[in-house]
Amino acid sequence: MIILKIGGSILTNKDSKISEVNPTSLKRIASEIKNSMENSPKQLIIVHGAGSFGHPPAKKHKIGEKFNKNEYPQKRLGFCEIQNEVKKLNMHICEAFIKENLPVIAIPASSFITATNKRITQANLDLFKKYLQKGFIPVIYGDVVLDDELEFCVISGDQLIQNLAMNLKPEKVILGTDVDGVYNKNPKTHEDALFFDKFSSLKDLDTLEGTTNVDVTGGMVGKIKELLYLADLGIESKIINAEVKDNIYKALEDKDVKGTIISRG
Ligand code: ADP
Repeated sequence: MIILKIGGSILTNKDSKISEVNPTSLKRIASEIKNSMENSPKQLIIVHGAGSFGHPPAKKHKIGEKFNKNEYPQKRLGFCEIQNEVKKLNMHICEAFIKENLPVIAIPASSFITATNKRITQANLDLFKKYLQKGFIPVIYGDVVLDDELEFCVISGDQLIQNLAMNLKPEKVILGTDVDGVYNKNPKTHEDALFFDKFSSLKDLDTLEGTTNVDVTGGMVGKIKELLYLADLGIESKIINAEVKDNIYKALEDKDVKGTIISRG
């Protein structure tokens, strides 16, 4: 089994205030996945980020922060708005995949996961396993979920990856984003950023700030933290650049692709 994450940064214009899909990237990625599935059928789970669909409304409604009791109805409506926005992105993605004859089935986190203080504490994956056995490709994405402490919170695609991989023990975990992998600082703002083939500790980062200010789920640092939890369990993952044509195909086919392996070893 392979768990593949497609970053919100490639699928949408993440810095944008408007919810916009990038149709060209989406189509290309869908066809790379199709080519790989045709070449070597495999069990596959797709996780995608929320990008510009999820982050601005999550920030607007301050989901995941403490609030007063009288604000509850308003927060609950904000929760609904975010859930609906990310569902729209998921619909675009599933539509593009179905056009490529990929048997995708959306399983929203808000429908079966709950959290405590922003960490997943309940997630029954039996349905995932059943769909996988029947040859479906389950698709899950960054979403809002009920939280026992905070009432509501956002769960990033990266935390979902961590939870799924921990419980389903895939052979491979691949994360496609819009940079080649992990650098010692943000390569988009620092020309002198140094690339890591392998990354094993947050101490190697010069700056520990998030990425874009619209990302309420932690950006690259949040991503690496989740992958380091996995590395602690002995599960390696690899961050690659999904904007580079054929990288997703090659990674799915076990071919050599530039990227950063996150492992403790
Ligand atoms: P995605 O939405 O694809 O999951 P994120 O936006 O969460 O990805 O994270 C990717 C972004 O992280 C890149 O666009 C890059 O600008 C930024 N970034 C910040 N710090 C780093 C770093 N040290 N190494 C690599 N990328 C970084």
